Amino acid sequence: MSGRVVPDPAHTCADRAAKDLVTAAFRAIRGRYVQDRHQIAAAVLDADGRVHLGLHLDAMVGRAAVCAEAGAVSAARLVTDAELIAVAAVRYPKPTEPPLARVVPPCGLCRELLLDHAPRLAVVLPGATSGLTPLAGLLPHKYVGTKWPTPQPTADQP
Ligand SMILES: [Zn+2]
Repeated sequence: MSGRVVPDPAHTCADRAAKDLVTAAFRAIRGRYVQDRHQIAAAVLDADGRVHLGLHLDAMVGRAAVCAEAGAVSAARLVTDAELIAVAAVRYPKPTEPPLARVVPPCGLCRELLLDHAPRLAVVLPGATSGLTPLAGLLPHKYVGTKWPTPQPTADQP
């Protein structure tokens, strides 16, 4: 890690839960950033108040890369069956970029994966007034296969 100062992007969050998750993800990626290997960290909050961290794993073959959100869900499931209720992910800047870490939304694959494992999950989105937004609203017409029972809609889902 270089000596440059990269501020915590949590100041853009509208509420305490969002700030805490963003700060957790920021601290994780600030400490573990490796250019072209680990660019993003994610923090997942469970219903018992515990935060689980995940680290993005880049790969020589791009499609083999693993998102930070997947790592955080995996870390959570290693230690608890508690419902997962919120997630935030933070991208750390490359040395050639301005020193600004930023909140990033889950990619399309992660939206599918996260909703499979946490149908009522909320997410911190980028923006000056980010709070927690129901993830289901960001993935209308989610894929539903026959492998698992069909999730029951919640009040937050359309
Ligand atoms: Zn992803």
